[in-house]
Amino acid sequence: MAGYIVYNGFWNPHTPPDPVQRLQAAARQRGWTLRPIPNTALPIVVSPSGAAVPGMCPGDVALFWDKDIRLGQALTAMGVHLYNPIDAVAVCDDKGATHLALAAQGIPMPRTLLAPMTYRDITAPIDAFLRRAMEELSFPMVVKECYGSLGGQVYLAHDPEELRRMAMSMGSKPFLAQEFMRAAAGEDLRLYVVGDRVIAAMRRHSDTDFRSNIAAGGQGEAYIPTPEQEQLALRCCRTLGLAFGGVDLLWDATGAPVVCEVNSNAFMGGITACTGVDVAGAIVEYVRRQEPIVR
Ligand code: ADP
Ligand code: MG
Repeated sequence: MAGYIVYNGFWNPHTPPDPVQRLQAAARQRGWTLRPIPNTALPIVVSPSGAAVPGMCPGDVALFWDKDIRLGQALTAMGVHLYNPIDAVAVCDDKGATHLALAAQGIPMPRTLLAPMTYRDITAPIDAFLRRAMEELSFPMVVKECYGSLGGQVYLAHDPEELRRMAMSMGSKPFLAQEFMRAAAGEDLRLYVVGDRVIAAMRRHSDTDFRSNIAAGGQGEAYIPTPEQEQLALRCCRTLGLAFGGVDLLWDATGAPVVCEVNSNAFMGGITACTGVDVAGAIVEYVRRQEPIVR
């Protein structure tokens, strides 16, 4: 049985991405081999005798650092052990699905409206959704594509015209409208959970943008979370079935934490740089504890 780190070969055609390199190095330091492998090298063969991904075997372990859900499902079906589980990766990948799953457990979050699904470009039938969003939320209003990362697909609509323009520009992409957490404008907290512990946390802020992502120009500093913030992050991961993950928290006018989003494949370079915590090492050690017999 062997260990792999699966990543997206289209997005990273030349070298594995930074988290994958960190995980590989962390494993090597601990005397364990985790081999990076792109999804582009893993064709899925489906037949009445089941799913097969040539090169992989039942009992292998894969740190799944990709969003190729069908590949994850095929690997799971053939008996490869995935970290994180593919159902958790799929729910975290879709911000609308994440909010639905968290809401079912009463987890606090910004007031959120999910746009109706369309097969093609958005046209007049979106009016009822926009009307409702304006009744429920005030301006400025956050608009997010359900699939996005690094702050790239998160927007702020300041008035009805801008909201309509944004909605019309979504094409067939699922999106949501959300209460703007004014008290946390340009800031958030990132708590990194591994197993049943928050192992590192940072406060991110941006002086120039309402989005605090480091990739969008934000800066991070080490942060010691309150017990309430820790419990909330752990509850999110338990609810979603994550073995590890990065939980983004915002807060309301009273300072009470609300969940912004949960990442199954969170970057670790920024949080390691500002806290000194070896996040990749903690993940590798966690997986190793679950999989003692894999070489
Ligand atoms: P991404 O997957 O791109 O990181 P997020 O949902 O985490 O998407 O949003 C990116 C950033 O935008 C957050 O870290 C936060 O700074 C800001 N943001 C997102 N949602 C809200 C909100 N409802 N109110 C205020 N700021 C928000
Ligand atoms: Mg985020």
